[in-house]
Amino acid sequence: MPSTKVKVPTPLRAFAGGRAEVEVEGRTVGEAVQALVRAHPGLGRHLLTPEGNLRSFVSVFVNERDIRALARDATELKPGDVVSIVPAIAGGAPSSPGASLPMARADRPKAGAFTGEELRRYSRHLLLPEVGVAGQKRLAAAKVLVVGTGGLGAPTALYLAAAGVGEIGLVDFDRVELSNLQRQVLFATADVGRPKLDAARARLQGLNPGVRVVAHEERLEAANALETLRPYDVVVDGTDNFPTRYLVNDASVLLGKPNVYGSIYRFEGQVSVFDAKRGPCYRCLYPEPPPPDLVPSCAEAGVLGVLPGVVGVLQATETVKLLLGIGEPLIGRLVLYDALGMTFRELTLEKNPTCVLCSAHATQKGLIDYPAFCGVPAASSAPARGVPEITPEELRGELASSDPPLLVDVREPEERAISLLEGSLPIPKGELPERVDELTRARSIVVYCRSGGRSADAVRTLLDLGFTHVRNLKGGINAWAERIDPSLPTY
Ligand SMILES: [Zn+2]
Repeated sequence: MPSTKVKVPTPLRAFAGGRAEVEVEGRTVGEAVQALVRAHPGLGRHLLTPEGNLRSFVSVFVNERDIRALARDATELKPGDVVSIVPAIAGGAPSSPGASLPMARADRPKAGAFTGEELRRYSRHLLLPEVGVAGQKRLAAAKVLVVGTGGLGAPTALYLAAAGVGEIGLVDFDRVELSNLQRQVLFATADVGRPKLDAARARLQGLNPGVRVVAHEERLEAANALETLRPYDVVVDGTDNFPTRYLVNDASVLLGKPNVYGSIYRFEGQVSVFDAKRGPCYRCLYPEPPPPDLVPSCAEAGVLGVLPGVVGVLQATETVKLLLGIGEPLIGRLVLYDALGMTFRELTLEKNPTCVLCSAHATQKGLIDYPAFCGVPAASSAPARGVPEITPEELRGELASSDPPLLVDVREPEERAISLLEGSLPIPKGELPERVDELTRARSIVVYCRSGGRSADAVRTLLDLGFTHVRNLKGGINAWAERIDPSLPTY
């Protein structure tokens, strides 16, 4: 039987003994995946449905081809074939979607002759025959919406402003945090605490006063997305969560606009251009999102600071190419960037002939309820409703009693190196379902994480599994550090 290399993506390597590549035997993709799951049973629930079929949010490629364009599970494998598993990645700029702050929108710049100062500013563009005065005028007349001003949106917006894109819309409603500065190069230390869009506008207009910056300081939602996206020529997806990604995709398809997609996870990025008029959309690649508990966010998983710089600059490059109409756009292709291996791989994406949104048989004609579609609470990071909680003060009392609860730390090992509660049992959230046996003897359990979100999910998991005396530490270890033990650092 032929043996095949299966490339395991970073988010799933923990379930494959940390390996990036596993050699398995199988005559078809289906057999190879079954063999992979037999060798690494922890991968099972990530890749297969309970019926044993490939999950819809997992894409599988043989060499450079999507198996959905081949014979799916029955796709035959030849010796030397490489099977790649490409999961949906939410991570992007840890920032947020927003919507319209109504602003006077001036007319597009007059396409008259450039001033002497503009000629100097754009001289390196004007020297390129592919850009020239005509191309620079196209950029000046263009409108681009950047959704999210985090790790991806920051470099994208900077380069678009530097390039002279006439109008840049920004969607975000967060304030600048100190932890943003490791990668969100739009912001300076003095901006911490300031609304991101105020700081971003000042920075972009400082870079290029000729660019108009339109702030949409609200959460992008089904109710306002079409109206927000409509005025723009190109949409750049710099989001970090699935509900907004699907919303941006769907609104772009419905409005017929190209969507320049980027996502990041730890050391890896994905980039593509989804333009349903000319190729597949995000739903063609991932018809459904993964369940929220299978995918850690950027805040949980960490990300190399320069990674969104690379991915965001690729997004800016594709945006400028689309506006100028030059080169080969990244339509129907997915670039995978691995910073540790310093490799770029390219996979071919096919339009899904049964895509609910962009195919001839589309059934979805409008926007939907995205938080419900993605199985997440409506307000992201909202405290979990219905999960029993304990305050840090109450926990201090119980820990000093004769019958203290078992403390379970669902954070990652890197986070325990920053701070931990003495005596706590480390079980990273992703490992919880496989390790519940370790908890069955505890009479009472208190689960904690950094700030209470992941641990609330873990409490819900344990309650679903039949545990009764389980509570969530409200505010996580950061709240404990602030209110009980100031010697612990917060992060
Ligand atoms: Zn589609």
